[in-house]
Amino acid sequence: MAAYDPDNIFVKMLKGEIPCHKLYEDDDTLAFLDIMPRTEGHVLVITKEPAPDLYGISPEGLAKLAAVVQKLAPKIKDAVGADGVLIQQFNGAAAGQTVFHLHFHIIPRKDGVPMGPEGAKMADPDALAATAEKIRNVISA
Ligand code: 5GP
Repeated sequence: MAAYDPDNIFVKMLKGEIPCHKLYEDDDTLAFLDIMPRTEGHVLVITKEPAPDLYGISPEGLAKLAAVVQKLAPKIKDAVGADGVLIQQFNGAAAGQTVFHLHFHIIPRKDGVPMGPEGAKMADPDALAATAEKIRNVISA
């Protein structure tokens, strides 16, 4: 298991110290737009447990996190008009993990449209806001 930094960037979002395009929150999880989306509607679903990765969370916490991923994925897919959804979760730098606070990626995919590279560029703030609005509308419908 990786070391856990209680001041990591996702904790700052949980505390409201750093802004994010929040889409969903409950007692155990927070979902928001990835700032460097690989496709439109790339969402991160994070646990509120202090867990750096898959090995550090309680089975109950993981079940709650997975249930939110399951609930949000089809809504995000519909909101951006995608054809499928890629769920990703990295453990350890060697696997591509860059933020050591457990999270799942929900990445909507459209037929024939390639995914952008990881961490390539910050999205346009207006585009992110518009996508967040579309997703919130479907979630709240
Ligand atoms: P990992 O590679 O650890 O699975 O993914 C971390 C994700 O966090 C990356 O996709 C990256 O774009 C995203 N990310 C990093 N910093 C920020 C930030 O300040 N705000 C948001 N919304 N996403 C971030």
